[in-house]
Amino acid sequence: MTIPNPYKMAKDQVDAVAPHLDVDEGILEKLKYPRRELTVHCPVKMDDGTLRIFKGYRVRHNDTRGPAKGGLRYHPDVDLDEVKALAMWMTWKAAVVNIPYGGAKGGVKCNPPDMSQTELENVTRRFTWEIAPLIGPESDILAPDVYTNPQVMAWIMDTYSMLKGYSVPGVVTGKPLELGGSVGRFEATGKGVLIAVKKACEHLGRPIEGASVAIQGCGNVGGTAARYFNKSGARVIAISDSKGGLYNSKGLNIERTLDCKNQYKCLVTEEVDAETITNQELLELECDILIPAALGHQITAENAPKLKCRMLGEGANGPTVPEADEILLDRGIFVVPDILANAGGVTVSYFEWVQNLQELLWTEDEVADRLERIMTTAVAEVLRISRQRNVSMRTAAYILGVGRVAKATELRGVYP
Ligand code: NAD
Repeated sequence: MTIPNPYKMAKDQVDAVAPHLDVDEGILEKLKYPRRELTVHCPVKMDDGTLRIFKGYRVRHNDTRGPAKGGLRYHPDVDLDEVKALAMWMTWKAAVVNIPYGGAKGGVKCNPPDMSQTELENVTRRFTWEIAPLIGPESDILAPDVYTNPQVMAWIMDTYSMLKGYSVPGVVTGKPLELGGSVGRFEATGKGVLIAVKKACEHLGRPIEGASVAIQGCGNVGGTAARYFNKSGARVIAISDSKGGLYNSKGLNIERTLDCKNQYKCLVTEEVDAETITNQELLELECDILIPAALGHQITAENAPKLKCRMLGEGANGPTVPEADEILLDRGIFVVPDILANAGGVTVSYFEWVQNLQELLWTEDEVADRLERIMTTAVAEVLRISRQRNVSMRTAAYILGVGRVAKATELRGVYP
């Protein structure tokens, strides 16, 4: 099976939405390219005394509506085209939830599970130093993504602040609370997935209570989503990590499962009442809601005909390839697309940045209320466009997101 090039996929998505937008062709063409892309090579002393070179990227897709915003991914499969696609999706996502940000993304080709904390810290500090001329609270703000976390954000903030000579908390979001992180940021993406899926269920007249949910990935997004679905009365029947998953048709004990994962760094233990399954089997389980919350291109033309879910809520970025998307549409599987479903993360990142710039501290309730309001409005707008134009939720989200950025670009004009 060939995996589509993610950047080509992202550009094709803009072409696909073009007929629905009253926008100059040249403007849409401009939006298919990143504003800047930087490749760096970071020499890092490893614990065994050897020197290794780590390749990394920071791509700024667009900053027309405000500073560029986007996560930093550490993974062995990171490459420039993937980072370009992820940066573009960030631009549309910020526009869908209507926050004043553009899109960016970064990645370092490395495998954190095989690295010590010292090696991770050294990679992070050197990478930050290399990309420092491009980042900052007014230009490009980083955040956690696959295999990066609040500690990595703390090292970035410290390195950048050392270079500047004063503390600059606003250069990253998803920081530890002790360094200006926001309450509610860690949970924001997974919680946002629940809010978006719940609103979609209400629209379709299907209750979330008792709904069976299968989740691929149990990191920040998957693990948090599992907790929130569980709390809202849904039955989480399966969850996985990179090595495989656990399944119990009656519902997993989610708190116990995630505690074991934390304790043993592995999902599969005898302490949870469940069968083991592969990631492929998880995707094909009979369930009401499937949440891919790990890597991209997991749902392909090959497995899309075999999916037995009624709704797909995309926690991950780019989990469904376009050919699979058409199959899901034909099969009547309702898709809540990534640029809507997982936008809770960038939304609370925005709250964190606003608090940092104004030296404010919002309460948990303030963050939760604002997140709920923004996600609810975005879901309602995408549903309205989908109904009015008789298009899928993904096309509707693109009409909204790309349309807002195109309009802003027309208003600013093209320099010089
Ligand atoms: P994470 O590193 O916290 O968790 C990643 C999870 O994926 C882990 O459970 C890991 O075991 C699993 N995984 C890794 N390789 C896998 C494989 N080959 N098959 C199955 N599972 C695998 O990362 P995260 O922050 O939870 O991000 C997950 C997805 O959500 C990514 O696509 C990311 O871009 C997207 N996302 C994250 C955020 C955020 O705020 N963290 C926001 C929006 C979207």
